[in-house]
Amino acid sequence: MLHRLGTIGQRVARTLIKSVGLDPERATARGVEALDRRFICGGCLEGVDGDQGVDEGQWVLTWTECIPHQVEMYHRRGLHNWDQHSESWILLSPEAEAYVRSRELPHPSSSDKVWSCMHCGVHCHNFVKRNTAVQHVKKVHSVSSPREGTDIFAYPGPNVDRSPRQPVHIPSENLGVVFQCLKCRKDKCKLWAKKEALVRHLSDKYLIGEAAQIEGGRLR
Ligand SMILES: [Zn+2]
Ligand SMILES: [Zn+2]
Ligand SMILES: [Zn+2]
Repeated sequence: MLHRLGTIGQRVARTLIKSVGLDPERATARGVEALDRRFICGGCLEGVDGDQGVDEGQWVLTWTECIPHQVEMYHRRGLHNWDQHSESWILLSPEAEAYVRSRELPHPSSSDKVWSCMHCGVHCHNFVKRNTAVQHVKKVHSVSSPREGTDIFAYPGPNVDRSPRQPVHIPSENLGVVFQCLKCRKDKCKLWAKKEALVRHLSDKYLIGEAAQIEGGRLR
């Protein structure tokens, strides 16, 4: 997979693949994608961009979004003569990922014409909006509540108008605060999210609803 990427892309891909516990020489793009992890750019977090008056806060990216980001920042750095935009990536904890995912919009979008019936070929290369496919399945195939993956699917291939995924943006005021679960402290389980995510973590994992278990601190 790596040979298809440029030099910067290869470096980023290696870092990300290692961070999710896979072997860069053997991992497949599909394998990494299947893990569906989320990352924050360490270079942006160091405040290099903030100093240049660029948008504050952080975008939470999937691994395929990290590579173009690093390439873009590399070129911008050249243009603006910035000292550096370091190449480091932060893998979100599962708890922080859950928080981020709960705020992500469905992708592909239901209004993109990429949807198709799985029972017949009527939408083949003539893809429709999600609801059109749903209504078709209900009417033509008599399925009362069509489900994704069984009755309808989003065409994943090229040559369709697919709007890009919209990453979640974490504002600086939430980003700077790290809440750490005192129970998991030896595992350095940090939550890049609001207090609510940690309260949820505590009640899910330890059946505790106590705010007293929470420790807050600045990240930088
Ligand atoms: Zn960055
Ligand atoms: Zn059909
Ligand atoms: Zn914990």
